[in-house]
Amino acid sequence: SYSSPPEDSTIYRSVLPDIEIPNHLPLHSYCFEHLAEYADRPCLIDGSSGTIYSYSDVDRISRYTAANLRRHGIKKGDVIMNLLRNSVEFAFSFLGASRLGAATTTANPFYMPAEIHKQASAAGPKIIITEMCAIEKVKDFAAERDIQVVIIDGHVDGYMHFSELIKEDNNSQFEDFDSEIEPDDVVALPYSSGTTGLPKGVMLTHRSLVTSVAQQVDGENPNLYMHKDDVILCVLPLFHIYSLNSILLCGLRVGAAILVLKKFDLVGLMELTQKYRATIAPIVPPIVVEIAKSPVVDGYDLSSIRLVMSGAAPMGKDIQDAFKAKLPNAILGQGYGMTEAGPVLAMCLAFAKEPYPVKSGSCGTVVRNAELKIVDPETGALLGRNKPGEICIRGEHIMKGYLNDLTATKNTIDKEGWLHTGDIGFVDDDDEIFIVDRLKEIIKYKGFQVAPAEIEALLLTHPSIADAAVVSMKDELAGEVPVAFVVRSNGSQVTEDEIKQFVSKQVIFYKRITKVFFTDVIPKNPSGKILRKEIRAKLAALTS
Ligand code: AMP
Repeated sequence: SYSSPPEDSTIYRSVLPDIEIPNHLPLHSYCFEHLAEYADRPCLIDGSSGTIYSYSDVDRISRYTAANLRRHGIKKGDVIMNLLRNSVEFAFSFLGASRLGAATTTANPFYMPAEIHKQASAAGPKIIITEMCAIEKVKDFAAERDIQVVIIDGHVDGYMHFSELIKEDNNSQFEDFDSEIEPDDVVALPYSSGTTGLPKGVMLTHRSLVTSVAQQVDGENPNLYMHKDDVILCVLPLFHIYSLNSILLCGLRVGAAILVLKKFDLVGLMELTQKYRATIAPIVPPIVVEIAKSPVVDGYDLSSIRLVMSGAAPMGKDIQDAFKAKLPNAILGQGYGMTEAGPVLAMCLAFAKEPYPVKSGSCGTVVRNAELKIVDPETGALLGRNKPGEICIRGEHIMKGYLNDLTATKNTIDKEGWLHTGDIGFVDDDDEIFIVDRLKEIIKYKGFQVAPAEIEALLLTHPSIADAAVVSMKDELAGEVPVAFVVRSNGSQVTEDEIKQFVSKQVIFYKRITKVFFTDVIPKNPSGKILRKEIRAKLAALTS
């Protein structure tokens, strides 16, 4: 509920009409609203085993999951943690928790122990659902804090197996807690560093996610046209909100089949695409590059694919053109998201049922039922078309705020409800959005977030390091990689390799430092904030 926008052409709205969004409904009820129409159709296809779960299976199993979670003490307002690669279990537990009014925090099971512990300490889950590859990393932590651990792919004494959570519970399977769930209750709690600082819990409510899904797939001529005959590839990790929202939740809402792939490998992806005649491929730029360049692809029949969505990181025009030459029948376009926006801000209108022409390099036009503006990052003044500035978005899809961090929330969502993205872009004469730069610190390695503040804090724990700053460097394969500027402590001879190893041991692979530049001082403003622009300029000079 915000005041209506001023009569000003510099506030952009979708060219598609606004729609009625039933965002009073809990997320799971909204997703399964039209269940009767496709109850027997395939819902989740487990790419590893080939098992197919119909919509009525998924509805029933998620009810059992809710009942079993409740028996294990989970109730409204609680948090569970999905520390999982893509799996059908991810979907069952997320939907089960949603039914109880509980929230799911999601994390990469390949995180190092300290990374998991930080998020788990902050989010406070009562249950961690994970797989064998991560069990050693959560064991002691969970024991100390009395957190129950559930394993989906193995049996370990003392831990619950996931089959316990989905076992039939006919007594309580039809219980529903919908009347207790408020639209502003949190349902998903992904972590993101946003425009600055350390990763924070992003509180996405039932209202935000229902709104976001509806903005994409509801209405006569939806932004993102998916339907019940579609088979959607779910290869992007569900622990990232892009996949959770635009694949799983959107797919459920329209009654499509969701093909769940545990991990990305090109051959596996091609085989399953061919086998199941996948029609929609939501991917990220590095996968677009691999498909465009690899000869492996030529051996497969990919003619079923009609839409390819790329998001999470920039995709250049060249690669877009190379990809189109490989898959001439598919429509390729971009979406633009940010976790804090639930995450979708903009979507390419070539995905609409009645497509609009779009330009290469554009990351879409603002989704409907939302407003977007471009402001001067220094003064906050509204800027007109074709002028780059900070992209801001307003609408009911954006986050409620950061968990337990009012200051960060206020610095990101202003008093008028505008979410400041920290992205620099412009809107052209046809309402298309082009991202040209990033004001914020975050580094995106193949679409994964690296928060410089996190790596800097780690570097400062090294006894031979007096000060450090981490910035992004362009990389052909990953898009961007983190590099460090380091001031050695007095008399220290610490080497680049020692520093790299020190970091590598403590972080997931994509946060590793690619290069270390030794320097005498880290430039800072009077309040101690690192002047990243200066460091980036220095990097440009050093690498040109
Ligand atoms: P995340 O919260 O991990 O989804 O990261 C959000 C950030 O990724 C955005 O604020 C952008 O900086 C970047 N991003 C997402 N989508 C795109 C896109 N299509 N083009 C360029 N950058 C993007």
